[in-house]
Order: sequence, then C-alpha cells, then structure tokens
Amino acid sequence: MADTLHLQIVTPDRLLVREDCDQVQIPGKNGELGILPGHAPLITELQIGEISYRVGTTTQYLAVAWGFAEVLPDKVTILADAAERAENIDVKRAQEAKARAEEALRQAAADLDYDATLYALRRAEVRLAVAARAGQTAAAH
Ligand code: ATP
Repeated sequence: MADTLHLQIVTPDRLLVREDCDQVQIPGKNGELGILPGHAPLITELQIGEISYRVGTTTQYLAVAWGFAEVLPDKVTILADAAERAENIDVKRAQEAKARAEEALRQAAADLDYDATLYALRRAEVRLAVAARAGQTAAAH
C-alpha cells in the first residue's frame, strides 16, 4: 500500500497544487472527508469549504467553492470551480463580498436571488476563515 497521497488541485485557471502528502481533508457534498493513503476509491461533489492537506508536520489550507474530487488509494484529484491558497486570498475583497451579501439579505429586495446570495456569503466567510489560518487578519472596518 502506498504511504503517501499524490494530491492535485486544479481550477479552470491553473494547477494550484501538485504535491505528495500524508493526509487530505475535503468538504464533500455530504460532509467532511478525511483521506489517508489506502482510502477506498470514490468520487464526490465538493461544497463551499476548506481543503487542508498535511505534509509531515506542516498543514496547508485552501478555500474551495464547488467542484469534484476523485479519491484513489494513492491519489486525490480535485477539480475545483474556484479555489485559493490561504496566503493568496484577498482579505479586503472577501470582506467586501461578505458585506455586499449581508446588505442584500438585509434589504431582501423582491428580485433577490436568495440562494445565490447565501452562497456568496458562505464563500466570503470561508475565504476569511481560511485566510486567517495563514495569519492574514481581517482589518476592522
Ligand atoms: P467576488 O464577489 O469578490 O468576485 P465571488 O465569491 O463571487 O467573489 P467567485 O465567483 O467564487 O468569486 O470566484 C471568481 C474568481 O475570483 C475565482 O478565480 C476565485 O478564485 C477568485 N476569488 C474570489 N474571491 C477571491 C478572494 N477574496 N481572494 C482571491 N481570489 C478570489
């Protein structure tokens, strides 16, 4: 049995991660999935959430919004609609997206796309939480 997992995370723009790691955690559609080498094969949709992977004693974090993951015993491939490494998240942009979504929900206009706005809010909240993992702090405003 392989003792590492080859992880690839791909977005429509780029190859974001290609690394051998010891453990991967992904936000599956039906809940969090912790994956170790030798995991049974599966394919799952991803929701909005946090991906983390550990190499030795170092854990890396990414925000993800939708996509698919294929898990094989020695390999995890993630095709994400959008994903950002914690250190590359633009905190100000996420704060503004969060404020916009909250304001739209507060105003509750007749033509509000409620689901889309809730998803935008969730994306922004996850980005802020993941950015904080990298030591990026949200400036008070
Ligand atoms: P915004 O309203 O700020 O555009 P959004 O949630 O609508 O946010 P998405 O549609 O999820 O944005 O993503 C569009 C692209 O922008 C993707 O490539 C995504 O990785 C990138 N992106 C979105 N928000 C951020 C952010 N705060 N920091 C870095 N990249 C971001």
